[in-house]
Amino acid sequence: MPTVIHIFLEKISIMAKLLNVDKALDNILAAITPLPSELVTLDQARGRILAETIISPLHLPPFPNSSMDGYAVRAEDVINATRKTPITLRLALDIPAGSTARYTLAPGETARIMTGAPMPDGADAVIPVEDTNGTWDNAALPETVQIYKEVQPGDYVRPIGENIYAGQSLYEPGVSLRAMDIGLLASLGLRTVSVIRQPRVVILGSGDELMEPGLPLAHGQIYDSNSYMLAALVEESGAEAIRLPVAKDTLADIRAVFQTALQHKPDMMISSAGVSVGAADFTRTILEELGQVNFWRINLRPGKPLAFGQVAGIPFFGLPGNPVSAFVTFDVLVRPALLKMAQRPDDAVYAKATVAEKMTSDGRRSYIRVNTTQTKKGLEARSTGTQSSGALLSIVTADALMIIPEDMTVVEQGTKLRVKLLKINPNTGK
Ligand code: AMP
Ligand code: MG
Repeated sequence: MPTVIHIFLEKISIMAKLLNVDKALDNILAAITPLPSELVTLDQARGRILAETIISPLHLPPFPNSSMDGYAVRAEDVINATRKTPITLRLALDIPAGSTARYTLAPGETARIMTGAPMPDGADAVIPVEDTNGTWDNAALPETVQIYKEVQPGDYVRPIGENIYAGQSLYEPGVSLRAMDIGLLASLGLRTVSVIRQPRVVILGSGDELMEPGLPLAHGQIYDSNSYMLAALVEESGAEAIRLPVAKDTLADIRAVFQTALQHKPDMMISSAGVSVGAADFTRTILEELGQVNFWRINLRPGKPLAFGQVAGIPFFGLPGNPVSAFVTFDVLVRPALLKMAQRPDDAVYAKATVAEKMTSDGRRSYIRVNTTQTKKGLEARSTGTQSSGALLSIVTADALMIIPEDMTVVEQGTKLRVKLLKINPNTGK
């Protein structure tokens, strides 16, 4: 007759055979090689990871220019000028923006100049138009202009190299390029930039019960949600997703979908379903035929069964079929692998939260779907209700995953645990 102690000991021995999550991740990361770089045009560079050092090839601005619409002068020519005692200068030329002509101002001369237009040689300041009797219409230019104000050398002039000097080091490899970075690179005259190649990831799956969204559902069928969700997760991780329609549970169909996957020459393959013990499909058979894949039982909830290895030399993940398990295993084990491949920094946000209500766990490391609220005492986390690994809605309504460490079977109210935020909380900014 099994006693409570016996049952407990049996449970412990089952746990002992489960692979630790961190160990699994170490094994995975050891098998992932970072991708090389490629050249892309600036139109394709947003969100990509820079693979080169950027040194400015030029001064910015490349020439001294006016910061006002006005008159370029030699400051020494207009000393003591006032509205009552104006100084009259000979208007030598007009310098619109984009003017490439060069001119040297002689003493007693001025040039009409537009904002951003190049300063004439010899001039060292600009008098704003409102401090002159000058006009700003398209009528013929007068012979002279009266200046009402004196200026200091450098006034209203943006010097050459004021923002960036030629030879200035601006970026190191590893930076994720944002809109303003793209703008800056363009302002340096760069047309292409070297970035880390994006991983190409093929998503596949199988199941006789799975129907393509948009088609009518027969009794016994459900829609394929994993392939769409996994493709979106891949894209959110900065990689390119190629989603294949799910295969039927026949040897021929599953072999065919793997062969199609390989034709895409992917950097990684992710399948869902068919990795649990006794799964009624042929994924295992094909994986044994095409690659070296380990079937792991991981000390993780949700998501115990997981396959990882190589198929035709390409890193392969076989995730559980239950959608929430697929989501969590992707987040915990696949995403870090993709980030390593793409040499991308991890932007995941973690926080500490207090458990609002007592919870129990089964001793596996558990990722519990929770909602967090900011209280006076800090962040508080409450289960979203069902933790069924088939219920996608429970992760849709969650804002964080609370991590219960392995071997913790009772989590008392008030315990502080780590949470991984699923999206930015606009109230807390966390
Ligand atoms: P399996 O590993 O094939 O036994 O699948 C486990 C569970 O996940 C079953 O309830 C399947 O119906 C479900 N499942 C498998 N693949 C998908 C998918 N692509 N989309 C939604 N549910 C799936
Ligand atoms: Mg199945």
